[in-house]
Amino acid sequence: MSLRQARSWTPFWIAFGVIFPALVLAGLSIFLSFRMTQAVEEGSARYNRYVAHMVSEGYEEVLFGLVHRAIAPAENVARSGGGEHEIRQALRVRSALLHDPTWFTVDQLMDMTLIVVDGQPVVYTFDPVSRPGRVFAGMLLRGPQGDVLGSGGWWLDPRQLLVANLSEVVDLRMADNPRTYGGTESTRSLSVALMSRSGDEIARIREPAHARTGHLLWLEGPFEGFGVRVTASAGAPVAWLRGVVSFEVALIGLMVLVISTAVVFALRYTAQQLQLAQHKSSFVSNVSHELKTPISLIRLAVETLEMRRISGPQDQERFLRTIGREVDRLGHLVDNILDFARTEAGKREFHFAPTDLAAVTQGVLDSFRPRLEDQGFQTQVSLPPDLPPVRADAHAIGQCLTNLLDNAIKYSRERKEVRVSAEAKDGSVALSVSDRGVGIAERDQRRIFEQFVRLDESLVHEVKGAGVGLALADHIVRAHGGRIEVQSVPGEGSVFTILLPVAGGASVERSRAAVGSG
Ligand code: ADP
Repeated sequence: MSLRQARSWTPFWIAFGVIFPALVLAGLSIFLSFRMTQAVEEGSARYNRYVAHMVSEGYEEVLFGLVHRAIAPAENVARSGGGEHEIRQALRVRSALLHDPTWFTVDQLMDMTLIVVDGQPVVYTFDPVSRPGRVFAGMLLRGPQGDVLGSGGWWLDPRQLLVANLSEVVDLRMADNPRTYGGTESTRSLSVALMSRSGDEIARIREPAHARTGHLLWLEGPFEGFGVRVTASAGAPVAWLRGVVSFEVALIGLMVLVISTAVVFALRYTAQQLQLAQHKSSFVSNVSHELKTPISLIRLAVETLEMRRISGPQDQERFLRTIGREVDRLGHLVDNILDFARTEAGKREFHFAPTDLAAVTQGVLDSFRPRLEDQGFQTQVSLPPDLPPVRADAHAIGQCLTNLLDNAIKYSRERKEVRVSAEAKDGSVALSVSDRGVGIAERDQRRIFEQFVRLDESLVHEVKGAGVGLALADHIVRAHGGRIEVQSVPGEGSVFTILLPVAGGASVERSRAAVGSG
């Protein structure tokens, strides 16, 4: 597989091998969690309905128990043949809930409703006109022969009875059966609320926490118009499970985020490695090309000299100059590559000493002069005589400058102008090399300092290079505690500036003053 193919397939495999399974697993576990919640919710809703019915039955039993206990004296009077007056007397009981003892004759019983609680008939009726909001609840009274004489009972406030007996009905009567219906819920952990006709809550046991499964049952018979709403409270399994599922969903979301971030980093890393591999392979072909060209030129010149095919001493001079120039070029290339390899391996050592940058620059310029002149460059040099010394390895800095000057020459077209200048500013010495060459687009200005990077412009292809000159220069300058800056406009030219800190804290102000006065 070629590098290009590897490049286009790698993201796909990483995405397919990691993100896809992660998403499937996350989706599956979220789906299962929701299915589980749904099942528990369904069970809970059924259980809430069941409890509401139990509460309704519980209230009827409370009413029956109350009336049954209170009617006992009147029953005795009736069975022993007592008259209506004695029965009415026996109905007078002391009770907070039972008011207005009342006696209905058999004829009046026709308009009343009868329910059977615990096998015993209980009669009830409403009288919205003269007793609004009240219900009559009573029992049938029989004479000595067992014949029904009528019904004795009381007018009571159903709301008062419901509120007063809520905890009795919910917590005491159902306490024996705390875990019913599949064992997932307990009456101990439910919220039970009493509702009025208008839908207002009038009493409640425990806070409701999971309204979705709540069940409202409208009561019937003597408690008509009131309702019981049963809902899972915070302690109920359904409410607990909802919390667990929310936590799990958040956790899965976080996991997916972490995996995606890791994949993005992996993709970026792979892309970088592939790009580096690509650069390395073009580096090899660039270098072999770079080596072959000067060797061929030198061979040609040497053969010409050997065969004495030259027409005079000027020709000889010219061929010798060519040989010298190409040997320099080879030497420069080999130096760059070897130094780059040493730097990469972390084996390069620098010998720092206070260095006069103007002298180093002058030396490099002298070695470049023949090439600059040969190629018709206009060179402008501006080196202040009293630049403060910098702490540097003179050879290494010379190499950086050589690379910058070499580039300035290589990437110049019609306008052959090179300017080298130095100045002290803000505790550093800035050494700039400017050209009026092809320039560098802004988006490439960081990239050119990476190893093996050569820009893909058509013009650059005509120019020889290995793509390590700037990477090496950048490394050297950083090792000196400085940096390289580039300013460039495509088609206009470029300015590369090496900034190096002044040696031993020599005052920039002083050196500036010296420049000013000099
Ligand atoms: P090379 O051996 O290719 O010159 P460098 O590391 O010195 O390698 O430079 C990297 C790339 O930066 C070059 O290939 C070129 O595209 C660009 N570059 C460097 N200097 C200049 C310049 N003065 N003008 C325009 N482009 C430049």
